[in-house]
Formats: sequence, C-alpha cells, structure tokens
Amino acid sequence: MASIGSLSAPWDAVGDRLRERGLRWTPQRRTVIEVLAAADGHVTASELVERCRARDASTIPSTVYRTLDVLEDLGLVRHAHGADGREEFHVLPLEEHGHLHCAECGATWEIGEERAAEVAAAFRSADGFEVDIGHVTLVGRCRECASAS
Ligand SMILES: [Zn+2]
Ligand SMILES: [Zn+2]
Ligand SMILES: [Zn+2]
Repeated sequence: MASIGSLSAPWDAVGDRLRERGLRWTPQRRTVIEVLAAADGHVTASELVERCRARDASTIPSTVYRTLDVLEDLGLVRHAHGADGREEFHVLPLEEHGHLHCAECGATWEIGEERAAEVAAAFRSADGFEVDIGHVTLVGRCRECASAS
C-alpha cells in the first residue's frame, strides 16, 4: 500500500482499523475521513454530512453516522453536547477543554486544558467524581450579561 502521506498521522491506517470493525472501506467512508481530517477540531454530524455531500453528492447520512460511531470506538473522534444537547464531534487529538454558553446573548467559549482540569479537580476532591468536562456545555450567563442586569 502506497498510501503513506495521503492522510495525516492519526488517520493513516484508518481504513484497516474500520475493516477490523466490520466496515468496508468505501469511497464514501474515505470522504468522511478526509473531511474529518480537514476539520478544525469541532464538527457537528449534520455539518459533516453537508461537507461530505459537497464532495460526493451520493453521501448517505446513515453511513456518516455509523462511521462516526466506529471512529469514536477507535478513539479518533469524541462526541460532546452543545447547549441544546445536540451532538458535536471533537476530532482528535485535541486537548481536553470545556465549553461555556451564555443563555442570554448566545455566545460560546472554550475553556482550555488547565481550566478544565481545575474544574475536574474540584469535583474529584469534593465528591470523588471524575467529571468528563469535555462532554458537556456549561450553560449560564457571561460577565457582560450578568453585569447588565
Ligand atoms: Zn470543544
Ligand atoms: Zn453524550
Ligand atoms: Zn452573554
């Protein structure tokens, strides 16, 4: 196989890994991987379907969803939830981080690895609970909205 270099590091053997999980390595799946590898780290399933369709109009959403499920099992993507509960996918490797959403103005922020670790540490020491900070979006009010009321 002369495929080395065609996809970047975490993705280069992905065809074999999908095959091991019983998925055929089809042009559609290759498109899904190429679109994911080119994403900036965050993508919703519907954005992914749209981008795949822009390249290959025959893309079937269920193929994209099934592929995402297996990629998550393989540790190549991880899902999180937006403020509305909708699934968003993190394309790995991506540093651990949290998401904040202001319910008033609708703005969203990321909190970086260090801040996410501080939040997780507070739960761990108080409750012995290992919170998966990257999985959820914390909804509240931002500084501007809070000080305006
Ligand atoms: Zn994120
Ligand atoms: Zn979830
Ligand atoms: Zn706000």
